[in-house]
Amino acid sequence: MIEDKNPQRTSISELGEFGLIDHLTKQFKIKHESTVKGIGDDAAVLDFKGKKTVVTTDFLVENVHFDLSYMPLKHLGYKSVIVNLSDVYAMNAKATQITISVAVSNRFPLEALEELYAGVKLACDMYNVDLVGGDTTSSNKGLLITVTALGEADEEEIVYRNGAKPNDLLVVSGDVGGAYLGLQVLEREKEVFKVNPQNQPDLDQYTYIIERQLKPEARKDIPELLKKLEVKPTSMIDISDGLSSEIIHLCKQSKVGCNLYEDKIPLDPQVISTSEEFNISSTTVALSGGEDYELLFTISQDDFPKIKGNPHLSIIGHMTQESEGMHLVTRANTKIQLQARGWNSFNQE
Ligand code: ADP
Ligand code: MG
Repeated sequence: MIEDKNPQRTSISELGEFGLIDHLTKQFKIKHESTVKGIGDDAAVLDFKGKKTVVTTDFLVENVHFDLSYMPLKHLGYKSVIVNLSDVYAMNAKATQITISVAVSNRFPLEALEELYAGVKLACDMYNVDLVGGDTTSSNKGLLITVTALGEADEEEIVYRNGAKPNDLLVVSGDVGGAYLGLQVLEREKEVFKVNPQNQPDLDQYTYIIERQLKPEARKDIPELLKKLEVKPTSMIDISDGLSSEIIHLCKQSKVGCNLYEDKIPLDPQVISTSEEFNISSTTVALSGGEDYELLFTISQDDFPKIKGNPHLSIIGHMTQESEGMHLVTRANTKIQLQARGWNSFNQE
């Protein structure tokens, strides 16, 4: 479906491993004082000067986490960084460095890796992080990417999943459900394309949700905003598996219950219209969709005036005593128990 704009194919073996690493990484410039030594030695050297360091890593495997028939490599490089930065922001920390390791089969020419790294570079520039290392190896089949992200925060700034208290407000950034529906549209078009390769899909009405799937952003702005508003969340998590399972993580780790209000869940108009088209409930999509990379957090009721009316934030519920359980309060005012269904199990329905 994605046209090959880069018909040149240079074999990776022509450069050799060191030539390849050098070629792919020479454009990256160090931005942070905390990066004492980046790429080029046996290990990177970092100095966070008394701050706490947060570290997180994620694996992306071809045909498990991404499908190259509709995922351009540049987007994939970008997204592989974003999903890790999102975890750093979910700790209320500032992302500062990444490493990236790739295993590639010989079906990928140099130009493919250049595209991947163009996306990595864009993410590093947009989010102000240094690429400080990685590893490069071959794979028998397919492409595997693992990114590790590092960040810094003062000890008292760090927000864990386990600090929510009964009566805290449950807040989410942005809107949810778009990335999952974007994937459904792309999967549908892939099937159409298989039958009729001449068919040029008209995806205009899906641009937002497709972008949410192919080029997600991490909410770097939210920890910054909360700091400015002088609000420290009591617990926080990023939404990678769907609102429902992330709420359950917060509740279980904090030993609280919650009431989530269906009519408060923020949905983009394209999520509403595309849910109708696919004949699924937009609430189900929001609860089980995943890959939105929004931040979900709880705040003390005392902080309500500070976030009230903020266009980036929606209050979607509140925490309760653990014994009250975890519930969705529907528009019809009935209570349904929340269930953890990541988008994998959702897919199998
Ligand atoms: P080693 O043999 O010690 O693992 P490498 O030759 O793999 O060393 O790596 C040399 C340098 O290049 C190191 O700084 C390493 O972190 C970096 N590096 C290796 N592969 C990549 C990659 N795919 N992307 C970015 N940096 C890389
Ligand atoms: Mg190595």
